[in-house]
Amino acid sequence: MNYKLLFSHRKLWTLGRRRSTSRLHEGIRVSGQALFSSCSPKVCVVGSGPGGFYTAQHLIKARPDVELDIYERLPVPFGLVRFGVAPDHPEVKNVINTFTQTAKHSRCNFYGNVNVGRDVTINELKEAYHAVVLSYGAEGNRTMGVPGEDLAGVYAAKDFVGWYNGLPNCRELNPDLSCETAVILGQGNVALDVARILLAPISMLKSTDITQPALEALAQSQVRRVLIVGRRGPLQIACTIKEIREMVNLPGTKPEMLPADFEGISEVLKDVPRPRKRLTELMLKTALETPGEKELERRKSASRSWGFRFFRSPVEVLAEPRTNKTSAIRLAVNRLEGSGADAQAVLTGEVEDVTCGLVISSIGYRSLLIDPGLPFDSRKAIIPNSMGRIQHTPGVYCSGWVKTGPTGVIATTMNNSFDTARSMMEDMDSGALDVSAVKSGSQSITALLRGRGVKPVTFADWEKIDSVETKKGEAEGKPREKLLSVEEMLQVAQT
Ligand code: FAD
Repeated sequence: MNYKLLFSHRKLWTLGRRRSTSRLHEGIRVSGQALFSSCSPKVCVVGSGPGGFYTAQHLIKARPDVELDIYERLPVPFGLVRFGVAPDHPEVKNVINTFTQTAKHSRCNFYGNVNVGRDVTINELKEAYHAVVLSYGAEGNRTMGVPGEDLAGVYAAKDFVGWYNGLPNCRELNPDLSCETAVILGQGNVALDVARILLAPISMLKSTDITQPALEALAQSQVRRVLIVGRRGPLQIACTIKEIREMVNLPGTKPEMLPADFEGISEVLKDVPRPRKRLTELMLKTALETPGEKELERRKSASRSWGFRFFRSPVEVLAEPRTNKTSAIRLAVNRLEGSGADAQAVLTGEVEDVTCGLVISSIGYRSLLIDPGLPFDSRKAIIPNSMGRIQHTPGVYCSGWVKTGPTGVIATTMNNSFDTARSMMEDMDSGALDVSAVKSGSQSITALLRGRGVKPVTFADWEKIDSVETKKGEAEGKPREKLLSVEEMLQVAQT
């Protein structure tokens, strides 16, 4: 992906550890009597991924009176920046530095280990705060809806990614990597992340923050061939050029494309927008051109291969009758109706079986409803909203993937989160959001959590976890060795 954009935002502003001005807004007292009492607007954010942190950052910067609390389900912050972004893309994780400055701001508090919807309800948050922002991402996944989907050897990309990135509930996944061919369904950047991790030389992964169990399993992996399958054609592929280039240059691998998939593509290239044109040219070159001497040598010595398979949709995952494990996938052959981005895949009636022992479905994440009191569009799997204002729910806003659906990079999430912060500030200024009443904020919520036996993890507690992880990593020559269970995280946080 072209992630260069991602970091330009760091120049936008730097949150210093400024002294809070909010106390000034609590009122001026003369001889113990309040002359006026305009209290600080108290806002809470649910979720500490990019959506939550960018909303918080914008609000704190633009409103010197806002006090902000972030509630996070896990004991550790940063959402998919920690648990999604591929371990061999460390530069993307630099956004954590900006998020850390926000979390350490004197008007911001972090409460990890608080599962909103279970430990505290949205109504309780609404009572305690003037405004609530839901930024809890998209933690479910879309299913293929085909027979055999539940067989051993079939995994959701979300879980596979969570496994190599140390997401506590994916710790026990132990994917079976004993087969030669893996099929990935979906051709977005997540699919390419998974393909790259499956095929990358261990020497390339071992200095990243990939978890040690995943590294060991990948070192023993028998997977030699990865096919990345999409419903439509090369002109509709959903990934970005950076990810394709990484595949093309992946040491120890060679491309395995079907020239027929690219028929007629060069002829229409001149009418294609520039970024897609460049990406398609790279695929055409890889699939059709005779490589130069150096590249030929490289391909000859490669022991692993990867390739796109276009115009194919999953029909059924087939089992080996004796073991009942995945042995093949049946794919329907499609043709395209229409052209460009809107072209539709239409079944031809033909099918083909591809022998494989591992199927990873990478067809998208999906937001979940965390509190039955909230409106939810279950078809789009988002919270219905207008510029971040949740429909029919005054005082409640949303940002990040739960607002837009699971698309776009961190920079896209940053922009949609800034928009939500702007909507909220407009509402404060216009009076549509009433911030005149005194609200208890975290005081009442932490008391409530205490009563329910929930111990929140503060940002200082997270820094203890961070320090233990970086020390463990140093010993292995890695940037960090992640703690893999919530219990371990809490143990470190609470000592
Ligand atoms: P999330 O990052 O998912 O954050 C949501 C947070 O809410 C999580 O911390 C979660 O624990 C918390 N939460 C969930 N439920 C609750 C609850 N009930 N109570 C409290 N907290 C809760 N973008 C790039 O720019 N570069 C990349 O390399 C890149 N790689 C990616 C790789 C993968 C596999 C994926 C899936 C995405 C990738 N992205 C990348 C996209 C990027 O991660 C997203 O744009 C971004 O993380 C979305 O932010 P978010 O805050 O909406 O969601």
